Amino acid sequence: MRLVLLGPPGSGKGTQATRLAQRLAIPQLSTGDMLRAAVAAGTSTGRKAKAAMERGELVPDELVVAIVADRIMQPDARNGFILDGFPRTVAQAQALNDILLTRGLNLDGVIELKVDEKVLLDRILNRAREAKSSGQSVRADDTEGALKVRLEEYRRLTEPLTGYYRASGILKSIDGLQPMNKVEISIFEALNASTRPVTAATAREVRQQPA
Ligand code: ADP
Repeated sequence: MRLVLLGPPGSGKGTQATRLAQRLAIPQLSTGDMLRAAVAAGTSTGRKAKAAMERGELVPDELVVAIVADRIMQPDARNGFILDGFPRTVAQAQALNDILLTRGLNLDGVIELKVDEKVLLDRILNRAREAKSSGQSVRADDTEGALKVRLEEYRRLTEPLTGYYRASGILKSIDGLQPMNKVEISIFEALNASTRPVTAATAREVRQQPA
């Protein structure tokens, strides 16, 4: 199963991608994580991405498309993957289509986590405060200034993708303000209603877990 998870910063996208990946036994491909690793390792990609990331802006399409094109061809992604944080622009979505099409593949679904923007700022700033007070490292872009830019970038460049994917009939919008387990159940139900029955058993399993 090849899935895309869309959602603004703080929407729980990373958490849900991790859960889905575990249940479906396919890798979670987070472009944010890949770029942070490149920055930490000081690679040429990392050096090109660092400043934009710290400001909360998107890094150039060609940089991210190259990383993803390479990553989804790795053996562990042969049977599927969950893209977390990609695509983030219509140009990236078109590039992804082309990459998949040339290999005779397609996306099975795009899941959009819908969250009221007002709660996002609080959620992320709290997450950063908690991380700091427990001695964990805080992301360089979890500051109020960078977060505002991340939200603006989402609204301006990424939200239009929902129209793009709705038109192809593969968009599933989920209420991201529900408790985490409920969000997970809703995702499986949405996938199950429209895709191959591969998720049926897993959807039952998710529903049976304690809330
Ligand atoms: P968020 O919590 O904002 O969803 P991510 O971890 O997904 O954060 O991404 C962090 C940063 O990495 C983004 O603000 C952006 O600078 C960069 N980034 C990640 N994915 C992409 C992408 N697909 N296109 C451009 N920039 C990206």
